[in-house]
Amino acid sequence: MISINVRSGSVKSLKQSYYEALVRWVGICLICQRPYHRHGSYTRVTPRLLGPLYIQRIYCKHCGVTHALLPCFIIPFARVLDVVREAAIMSICHNLHTIEELAEFLAVDPTTIARWWRIFRSKASMMLQALSAILAQTPQLADWARGNVDTWRERGCKILELIGRCRATFYPRFMFCGFAWVNLFDPHLLFKRKGMPDRTPGSANTG
Ligand SMILES: [Zn+2]
Repeated sequence: MISINVRSGSVKSLKQSYYEALVRWVGICLICQRPYHRHGSYTRVTPRLLGPLYIQRIYCKHCGVTHALLPCFIIPFARVLDVVREAAIMSICHNLHTIEELAEFLAVDPTTIARWWRIFRSKASMMLQALSAILAQTPQLADWARGNVDTWRERGCKILELIGRCRATFYPRFMFCGFAWVNLFDPHLLFKRKGMPDRTPGSANTG
């Protein structure tokens, strides 16, 4: 899948903004550099908040590769908006609430939040590596590399900090949360499917 940047200020207009972004979107195949063609759509019923969403598919005739164009506010295979998942992870990392409390606030099952935290931890080293690699290319002072990353919480806080720095550097006027920015960079960094091997960071938009 490929995550696309959607410009929208409110939850109410998310769906419409995604459809508008689709109209504007043009892309070339990452393998053969030829333009993609639109190739039907499928219906996504989650996040329920948005109602049914028609997800555009694109296709490279030359390579026979199909991708789904997901809006940046959705983590692939996730059932909630990425801002909800980010809020939960942030809360756990900064030790603000227990998983049980978060489950109440966010109206999500506690086992779901525990799973989000597990996925985040399993992706942590890959994210640290990928984000550090991006920041290393910018003229910013390398003070971001400081700090403890011994515990999962410390590592999580560092990742959230690096996401914030990347986002501020590359998309200063980006409308959505940090995880939405990660989706644009490489959606594979935020999800894990059974039986799917972890990929190397930086190979964005190839699946
Ligand atoms: Zn191609």
